[in-house]
Amino acid sequence: MTTAVCPLCHSDVIVDDEAYEHDLVTCANCMTDLEITSLTPLTLAALSEDESPA
Ligand SMILES: [Zn+2]
Repeated sequence: MTTAVCPLCHSDVIVDDEAYEHDLVTCANCMTDLEITSLTPLTLAALSEDESPA
């Protein structure tokens, strides 16, 4: 288990060890869906609000 910092609320977000770039995780603090944009270093970015899931 590893963690990355939520770009919105700056709390730690748990990311699965077997996650890959472009996988999605949800911040447990602000419930925002985040995309893994880089693994080294582990970096998260908030998904665009324009792209609502179908
Ligand atoms: Zn957050």
